[in-house]
Amino acid sequence: MIIPKSREEIELMRESALIVSKTLGMLAPEIKPGVTTSHLDKLAEEFIRDNGAVPGFLGLYDFPNSLCVSPNAQVVHGIPNDTPLNEGDIISIDCGAIKNGFYGDHAYTFEVGEVAPEVKKLLEVTKESLYVGIREFKAGNRVGDVGYAIQKFTEDHGYGVVRELVGHGLGKTMHEDPEMPNYGKRGRGKKFVEGMVVAIEPMINMGTKRIKQLPDGWTILTADNKPSAHFEHDVALVDGKPELLSTFKYIYESLNINTKEEDEFRAKVYD
Ligand code: MG
Ligand code: MG
Repeated sequence: MIIPKSREEIELMRESALIVSKTLGMLAPEIKPGVTTSHLDKLAEEFIRDNGAVPGFLGLYDFPNSLCVSPNAQVVHGIPNDTPLNEGDIISIDCGAIKNGFYGDHAYTFEVGEVAPEVKKLLEVTKESLYVGIREFKAGNRVGDVGYAIQKFTEDHGYGVVRELVGHGLGKTMHEDPEMPNYGKRGRGKKFVEGMVVAIEPMINMGTKRIKQLPDGWTILTADNKPSAHFEHDVALVDGKPELLSTFKYIYESLNINTKEEDEFRAKVYD
């Protein structure tokens, strides 16, 4: 059952999402060769608590940490550890926070030092597919419209769309209805309703769409060990249009990246 949120609840959810956005922005300059993911996890947990929130992943389904950290061929759900990051790695960082009883859930794939051009391309296309998908999250559309748009855009680049893991509704619990697959058919699935909030999160592989899981019971990686990227925004349906609750702007500020990506997105949605 889809649980629409009131305007007041959406503003509370924006607060939760922005705490995660700021956490990722705080982490961005720390992500460099030699740093361990357990160090990043510690920084994130402290930052979230200092901002009056609670880590959203810690203990959720018994997950042991505040961040999911998934380098290179890992898709999602990697567990922080003491292995240092290397020059040329990529690392997907997924983070959750709970404030006022609502979850924020938001992810970005970072470059560690200088990354190979074909890997950079995977990141660019996956991030763009996130916005391509979000644009279809609008009144009159259905779950399949978002999935179709993401699938078409990324498969046209020859990439594999993970099937087993999907986006989701978000609210007082981390995973609400509906499931939001990154693949699908136009006009199929549940119809979007005003006030609903979803996490849209393409998980896109450079090679095969197939995945495997490590014996730790969490870590998902690509079946062919090629890299995978993951970008996630929290989005509310307001006045029939998608409104971003999370933002990458803190990441870009930290890294001195000059981009109007989110403004351009809004301009396209609200033109
Ligand atoms: Mg997430
Ligand atoms: Mg999510």
